[in-house]
Amino acid sequence: MQIGIDLGGTKTEAIALATDRVVAARRRIATPRDYTATLDAIAGLVAGLESETGCTGTVGIGIPGVVTHATRLVKNANSTWLIGRPLQADLETRLDRPVRVANDANCFALSEAIDGAGRGFETVFGVILGTGVGGGIAIRQHIHEGPNQIAGEWGHNPLPWMTDEERASVPTCYCGKSGCIETFLSGPGLEHDHARLAGVRRSSPEIVRAAAAGEAHAVQALRRYQDRLARGLAAIINLLDPDAIVLGGGMSNLPDLPAATSALLPRYVFSDTVLTQVLTNAHGDSSGVRGAAWLWPPG
Ligand SMILES: [Zn+2]
Repeated sequence: MQIGIDLGGTKTEAIALATDRVVAARRRIATPRDYTATLDAIAGLVAGLESETGCTGTVGIGIPGVVTHATRLVKNANSTWLIGRPLQADLETRLDRPVRVANDANCFALSEAIDGAGRGFETVFGVILGTGVGGGIAIRQHIHEGPNQIAGEWGHNPLPWMTDEERASVPTCYCGKSGCIETFLSGPGLEHDHARLAGVRRSSPEIVRAAAAGEAHAVQALRRYQDRLARGLAAIINLLDPDAIVLGGGMSNLPDLPAATSALLPRYVFSDTVLTQVLTNAHGDSSGVRGAAWLWPPG
């Protein structure tokens, strides 16, 4: 069986899969904000799944960052207690087996490519639209990572085809650049844009409800969001030309997002027809943990 662990910033989940079925249901614990306690928690989850099933499993871990190939230390993690730590090597010692570790957005793309919305498509771009914006690329059901291990990290590219209005009030990003896609397409990005339009701050769910009730500023904020997503994805299509784009993260639940975005793509993509499928994810918030399990292929 394949054990997957999704080591999130606030919660850590575990699952055990075999071929195409779940053999031990998802377990969820609060992520300790301490390195040694994180190792203990992961070892505890693995031991629990193995005693529940009576089987030994392979272990794959999804993290909000990457284990650098050259140094085997964690970088780019917003869970700062992991940064600079030999997470993979320490877990291999603790669990007495090889462990695979990958970025959580890459795990999302892999999960959706193997048995989710992207199943049957050769190249899948998985998009995370949440508190942050990220992405991952799966080609023939394998993660494409790249030498810098940042393939798919489109959230810190500038928003393409900015309007004069966008250019005049370009938001700064925590990464040190300005105009990053993440500052427009994250949850806080939508809320900020709506507040600028409406003069009142609302949460994303409140904006959705207000738009459904016909409130003009909320409707406009959602339309702008769809158009900005279409521009961001058009740049991905021009570069990678994936067969499918699977939307994930909390913002992917915005009503009608795949269809509305698809309809806008021909304005921006360098092609008279756009065959790329834009799809809602199949596995919701369990895509991360499933993709971590699939870091070890079945069989
Ligand atoms: Zn940025």
